[in-house]
Amino acid sequence: MREPSAELIVDIGVIRKNILYLKSLLNPETKFMAILKANAYGHGLKEVTLGIDDIVDGYGLVRIHEALEIRENSSKKILLMQGVYNNQDFDLANKNDLDLVVHNDDQLFILDNPNINIWIKINTGMNRLGFSPKSFSSIYKKHLTKRQFTLMSHLACSDNPLDDLNKKQFNAFDEVSKNVQTNHHKSIGNTGCIINYPNQGFDWVRSGIGIYGGYSADNTLQSAMTFRSKIIEIKDIKKGDRVGYNGRVIASKDIKIAIVYAGYADGYPQSTFDKTKVSINNKEVNIFGQVSMDLISIDISDISNCKIGDWCTLWSSKDSINNHIANNNLISYELMTRITDRVKVSFK
Ligand SMILES: *Cc1c(COP(=O)(O)O)cnc(C)c1O
Repeated sequence: MREPSAELIVDIGVIRKNILYLKSLLNPETKFMAILKANAYGHGLKEVTLGIDDIVDGYGLVRIHEALEIRENSSKKILLMQGVYNNQDFDLANKNDLDLVVHNDDQLFILDNPNINIWIKINTGMNRLGFSPKSFSSIYKKHLTKRQFTLMSHLACSDNPLDDLNKKQFNAFDEVSKNVQTNHHKSIGNTGCIINYPNQGFDWVRSGIGIYGGYSADNTLQSAMTFRSKIIEIKDIKKGDRVGYNGRVIASKDIKIAIVYAGYADGYPQSTFDKTKVSINNKEVNIFGQVSMDLISIDISDISNCKIGDWCTLWSSKDSINNHIANNNLISYELMTRITDRVKVSFK
């Protein structure tokens, strides 16, 4: 066998399907911004851009070097969602026709340049970034009555429609918008908003996790990633024997385990609990023992035809990434973005 490696296979076709599905939930006038921050949530910035450029209206990023990489491959709108923090980056943004968010007083210098497309971020209740409605009001009067801009906010719990904070944020957003006398665009929706509040799409939605298929409450969306590695060892374990570091898990009967060539150094969380589901030869099997740096142990007692060299799929379009989150106190966003450099990446 060649030296094995954990593999990440990104299916751009799945990302396209997810985008078209999300767009179908929205008013056709609403523009769709694909959020590609953090290397397209770990999926590969350039490949994703080239693969979806014809079906999106723009891109949202946080780091300027990523925005510039997209600019090499697309002439569509590119928004730096936290703006810029110095003059040098401002010049680069201006030269490359990037839209800029302004979210605090230190960024007000951006408003001095009339050529920049401005998004003003207001804090409607998430209390992380953005101007209070009151500060916004004075900035508006001073700088914005004579220019087009986009009013923007971000939701804290759009994936949970039962949480009152959603309504509170929508109301605050509405209130601020009502007090703006001039024509302006609006954007508050992320993936959870598109799914749970499709009528709050306004002019632009900004969708990240949904396009990659990491949104757990919607079964139409599929994981665009396949994360897998090969079995390099199979062992019989006697009843009462303990497996892996700390001997965390004890065999309650005679069992067979497979050792898979992937671990936390590939980005698979060390903290994962036993019984987390993965897949071998299209059968669901459970993690058995603590994940180590290079290895994961799996209980394969229930599958007969398993051998060294077979693939173990941690997640894929059929084996949901969300199997790994709930019991392990993780989110799909983190799993996607923590896959490390030594994993072999390919695209289809
Ligand atoms: C990351 C991000 C998004 C995308 O959110 P998802 O939940 O991944 O759809 C939207 N807006 C802002 C400001 C973000 O930082």
